[in-house]
Amino acid sequence: MFYILFFILGSVMGSFFHVVATRMSNDECIIAPSSHCHTCDHKLKWYELIPIVSYIIQGGKCRKCGSYLPLSYLVIEIVTGVLYAVCYHEYGLSPKLIISVIFISILIIVIVSDIEYMIILDEVLVFGSVITIIFYLILYGLDVTVYHVLDAALAFVAMYALKLLGDFIFKKESLGGGDIKLMFFFGLVIGLPLSVITIFVATFIAFPIALFVLFSRRDNMIPFGPFLSMAAILILISGINTDDIVNIIANK
Ligand SMILES: [Zn+2]
Repeated sequence: MFYILFFILGSVMGSFFHVVATRMSNDECIIAPSSHCHTCDHKLKWYELIPIVSYIIQGGKCRKCGSYLPLSYLVIEIVTGVLYAVCYHEYGLSPKLIISVIFISILIIVIVSDIEYMIILDEVLVFGSVITIIFYLILYGLDVTVYHVLDAALAFVAMYALKLLGDFIFKKESLGGGDIKLMFFFGLVIGLPLSVITIFVATFIAFPIALFVLFSRRDNMIPFGPFLSMAAILILISGINTDDIVNIIANK
């Protein structure tokens, strides 16, 4: 029962995150105007706003003008729904569930805005970090919160050092400012060691895609943020923790 509930909640939120990412990247207001078709301005009625269901019933088209709606809407609604349900599966009704859901929500917005507009919004990361810190304080107390904030600061510094090294080796900007700020948010939730590991996992995921883009398109600008975010989400839901990593290394 809770699985379905979390899936529905996730798909509703996913739909909302898509709107947030799109409108904030374009400097538009999040609340007004209400959702509309981008081709004919047709205002969407409540029954056209049901995540996943409306999209499938309408065959992915606007009811009024018949123009196709971006498939990304459907994908994000489903993915967010699944991720919320997976978080519930992994952590049950616990404080960790709240933190995980916030983490994934913020990263969904990061992924959408970085893929569609090549931008990681500061406001989103600041909001995400502040709300996470507040929940740490409420759920775990001051000591744990300070510990997490320290990890965040260290992850940020580590990423910045890596950027300087990359800039030096490649003689050009190797990592964007957004990617470095993203690291602070990672450190806050998954800790320093796992944040560093996201860089390797992200490179691993990005490599085949980067090759594909390089051979199929002329512009070879691929944002790294979405891969970092996907890697961080994978690490979070895998439930792996720092002790596991230390054990793996120690056993070798
Ligand atoms: Zn339309």
